[in-house]
Amino acid sequence: MGPSALPETGQRAGCRILVEGVVQGVGFRPFVYRLAEIHRLGGTVRNGQHGVLIDAEGERENISRFLMELEAGAPSSARLGRITATWGMPHQGVQTFRIDTSAGEGEPTLFPAPDLAVCATCRAEMGDPGNRRHAYPFLNCTECGPRYTIIRALPYDRERTSMAAFSMCPACRREYLDPRDRRFHAEPTACPACGPRLALLDSSGRTLGVTDAIREAATALRAGRIVAVKGLGGYHLACDATVSGVVSELRRRKARDAKPLAVMVGNLETARRLCVVSEAEADLLQSAARPIVLLERRRPPGAPALAAEVAPRLGHLGLMLPYTPLQHLLLEHVDHPLVMTSGNRSDEPIAFQDDEVLARLDGIADLFLAHDRPIEVRCDDSVARCLDGAPLLLRRARGYVPLAISLTHEAAEPILACGGELKNAFALVRGREVFLSQHLGDLEDERAYRAWTGAIAHLQRLLELTPRLVAHDLHPGYRSTVYARDLEGVRHVPVQHHHAHIASCLADNGIDARVIGVAWDGTGYGTDGHVWGGEFLLADLEGFERAASFQEVAMPGGEGAIREPWRMAAAFLQAAYGEAMGDLDLAFVRRLDRAAWRVLSRAAERGLNAPLTSSAGRLFDAVASILGLRDRVDFEAQAAMELEALADPEPDRVYAVELGEKEGRTIVQTPDLVRGVVEDLLAGVDAARIAGRFHASLADVLVRTCRRLRERSGLDRVALSGGVFQNLRILRPTIDGLGRAGFEVYTHHQVPPNDGGLALGQAAIAARRGENRSGG
Ligand SMILES: [Zn+2]
Ligand SMILES: [Zn+2]
Repeated sequence: MGPSALPETGQRAGCRILVEGVVQGVGFRPFVYRLAEIHRLGGTVRNGQHGVLIDAEGERENISRFLMELEAGAPSSARLGRITATWGMPHQGVQTFRIDTSAGEGEPTLFPAPDLAVCATCRAEMGDPGNRRHAYPFLNCTECGPRYTIIRALPYDRERTSMAAFSMCPACRREYLDPRDRRFHAEPTACPACGPRLALLDSSGRTLGVTDAIREAATALRAGRIVAVKGLGGYHLACDATVSGVVSELRRRKARDAKPLAVMVGNLETARRLCVVSEAEADLLQSAARPIVLLERRRPPGAPALAAEVAPRLGHLGLMLPYTPLQHLLLEHVDHPLVMTSGNRSDEPIAFQDDEVLARLDGIADLFLAHDRPIEVRCDDSVARCLDGAPLLLRRARGYVPLAISLTHEAAEPILACGGELKNAFALVRGREVFLSQHLGDLEDERAYRAWTGAIAHLQRLLELTPRLVAHDLHPGYRSTVYARDLEGVRHVPVQHHHAHIASCLADNGIDARVIGVAWDGTGYGTDGHVWGGEFLLADLEGFERAASFQEVAMPGGEGAIREPWRMAAAFLQAAYGEAMGDLDLAFVRRLDRAAWRVLSRAAERGLNAPLTSSAGRLFDAVASILGLRDRVDFEAQAAMELEALADPEPDRVYAVELGEKEGRTIVQTPDLVRGVVEDLLAGVDAARIAGRFHASLADVLVRTCRRLRERSGLDRVALSGGVFQNLRILRPTIDGLGRAGFEVYTHHQVPPNDGGLALGQAAIAARRGENRSGG
């Protein structure tokens, strides 16, 4: 707060107050109005270009109290940023306070809040038989309901949302226009008389003449059918999560191999029966964003049975609570945990348009529980887990988008940051604000790529922004890179993958400094054309030095090795034991297809189709395969996730791993780790204990490498980024170890550590480079 020249006590004063942050579309102006009345202030409140603008006059003490309570009592969905109070404004004896709803100049670019879960007050109305919105699945208010997913254009007003077609009944209009009502300017407000309606359709699109669509859908779900349910950012596919046959059938129809499926439970008590839920996790489950939260499973007996097919071989379940009124009603009627997975086939984007959903989900859904409020923006559920009481986002989408992330420095020109290839999210930058898109999936899929280009155009239109700088990955084969390079009339900013990860972590923490950046992931294109992924960079937003990395090994057969971890296992065993690997008394060696391996390894020796990699992800794959977890994967990081699930949470020792030097770079000799694993296997140590030791060893060698780099560089801050740091068996001991060694540690909070956060790092780097270019 920046007060200026306070007037004398008891005097009448005028004050202009600017409140920045997420203050539009969350009931903030009515709150200001009521507060001003309490303190007998005159004046106005209105939406401005940078936030909410208040002109207040009255007794000085009253204005001061008003200011204090403004911060303390704001609606829960508002996120207050800076509050700037300028005293000494002229006062004209105005006694009344009003809300100015006229569109001011420069308003169009301010986003409202993200989509918000239905609030407790609305839920109480929904359950009250005497209320005119009893059991109405589309009620909302200024503190809850759809926002981002119904916007066609800005500013955020009803006529520019998908509610435009519904004209308010007199009762709704009265509430909408009354500043004392909690639905004052609730843009999507509705009631049974004037709002959206439900419909239950069969698989051919025929509307079924039922009196209670939700009850019928619930009956069908209990009978084992698969129902497509229209949500906020797209359709879900729902089915009974407790019956194996039903869940397998959903997987079969969806062509979804083994990826875990999210489960929606009716309330927190059910979540607690299935999983261990800490207070922080309960808060996250119940937050207005309502992400899917990864929770540790309770072990039977005692825990009610969910079908094993929900999340095969994983120790965690992805649970979420209902967030739309429709979901609440449905869960009440079903009274069972439901699988609630994206309405799509395999890796395609989630279906969200009513005219395409029947075709897109043809042969998958038996019934469609739909309604006539269009979805304007496709947006998946977010996914998070908790780390030491704080949320760690793994997928950032509904509930978080379009919250802007602030850079420490201003971009001189508008920027588009294209992100990576997998788990893509792009970003647009205006000034200091980064608008990171929702998760848009893997661009290898043609539909996902088209949805991605469409989403870029949509966000540029909403923000009225034309990028001058375009940041992209170095990988020449990424579709996002090809797209960026094809754009004309812009300046291109190529950014190395792991440098972007570290910059993302810096921007996420609001720091602009040189750090030891540890970027561990599956794949990233290096400046030498090799596949990087176990990297230690001395980095800031200007550039980086690759100070240490994992020892390189060949990826026999190239990309194919990603899908077949057994190849990496063989490559690591070869690196550790040479030809003697064939004599090791290991189950892995006994089942190895020697002929296939001979072909691959001969080709690798001649440098054919065997790129060198320092990837951490490939090391996880290799160890998972050696331990017999799996030789092939169905989706990215599957082997690593299973290895994490298997690992003994209290490892008793670490493997000795040498740090070498090569061309001025420290080399983490990862084959030593593989030797440790093999020796334990030969000694009959069980796989869970070995997996525990493996994770502990990686954390240990990370800390030792950072110590060495600190001696060399004097840097004592470490930023951790890359998909490996989603793994708590690595992240926890790493944070602890670095802390004990006296390092300051930075991890992700606002964006995922995986490639979903890349665009933020690209954006921060491009903003810095643009600054230098303009002579700054
Ligand atoms: Zn509400
Ligand atoms: Zn109405």
